Amino acid sequence: MNKAKAYSAASATAPMASTTIPRRDATENDVQIEILFCGICHSDLHSVRNEWSEFMPTQYPIVPGHEIVGRVTKVGSAVTKFKPGDLAAVGCMVDSDGTCPECRAGFENFCPNMTLTFNSPDKHLGGVTYGGYSESIVVDQRFVLRVPSNLKLAGAAPLLCAGITTYSPMRRWGVGKGKKAGVVGLGGLGHMGVKFAHAFGAHVVVFTTTPKKKEDALRLGADEIVVSRNADEMQKHAESFDFILDTVSAPHDINAYLNLLRRGGNLTIVGAPPQPLAVAAFGLIIRNRNFSGSSIGGVAETQEMLDFCGKHDVTADVEVIPIQKVNEAYERLLKSDVKYRFSIDMASLKSE
Ligand code: NAP
Ligand code: ZN
Repeated sequence: MNKAKAYSAASATAPMASTTIPRRDATENDVQIEILFCGICHSDLHSVRNEWSEFMPTQYPIVPGHEIVGRVTKVGSAVTKFKPGDLAAVGCMVDSDGTCPECRAGFENFCPNMTLTFNSPDKHLGGVTYGGYSESIVVDQRFVLRVPSNLKLAGAAPLLCAGITTYSPMRRWGVGKGKKAGVVGLGGLGHMGVKFAHAFGAHVVVFTTTPKKKEDALRLGADEIVVSRNADEMQKHAESFDFILDTVSAPHDINAYLNLLRRGGNLTIVGAPPQPLAVAAFGLIIRNRNFSGSSIGGVAETQEMLDFCGKHDVTADVEVIPIQKVNEAYERLLKSDVKYRFSIDMASLKSE
């Protein structure tokens, strides 16, 4: 067993602080990675503050972080995919049984025995898994992804969650040329949604509560921007969308967006506010509309997304911060004040 520097929270109300955590010795199928950058997902914040206590209660101390890129430092004897010195990435999952129907269909994210990168029972060391706010991690090679060499690493890290979570439903629902796609909320997920919808060739409309994000939205690939608190602006888009991706992290009126779907259109929710949302039946019944959800993506699709990003030079727009600024970053995330993902430079952990 090795000791690694990390940042953890001791309770739902405690700030994140420096600590050390155990990491297992690499077994024959494991890849040991020195973490270079880790993105800050709003899910980290929901988990640290135990906001999802009803669905996945947090066990403390928690070390969050599931947008990981780094360099391989060691591999087990059976590892064929990686060698020391390679770039590597890890997303929201670190293990699954590999045999169930979901795993066999490429949906490891729905395997009943899947292990999340943090706050999941740790099959090797007991206790719970610890995530990417750390100097290193040891992961089964099946869950380690390749990073295209042309991508800037700080901006590549957020692809591992914000990237796949927006790429996957847009591919599934056929966002592309000739389609009108909306993205609700211009945060970490939302800005990746805009980049992908634009890259797929759709006409992209951003819905934001923050009018000053307008110029950024256009630069990121949006064709139009709607300030969602302006009813007139919303009304102009009534019954016109093929697809809308809702990335909002807090309670909000979902019916306002269902009403913007054309006949048979689809609204996919990926944002995960803890409170239930009220859906008006008539908003769905009229025009045969669909309301669906989506959870990250499987391993193969995550690699497909990374390769797409390599080919099209897509990365997240990041504010790189030292780990010592993580508590401040969380407060800014709550104010929708990030352009557009925080990426932690893990070299900053060395001084702890
Ligand atoms: P984020 O960076 O904080 O972005 C959320 C955006 O939602 C904000 O930038 C803001 O955009 C908008 N927003 C925030 N509060 C709002 C309110 N009260 N009313 C209306 N809009 C509001 O968060 P993120 O990291 O992108 O994550 C978004 C959500 O997705 C979180 O709940 C997270 O847990 C969830 N998530 C789900 C999956 C999945 O697999 N389904 C994966 C990752 C994350 P504007 O300023 O533009 O309005
Ligand atoms: Zn995430």
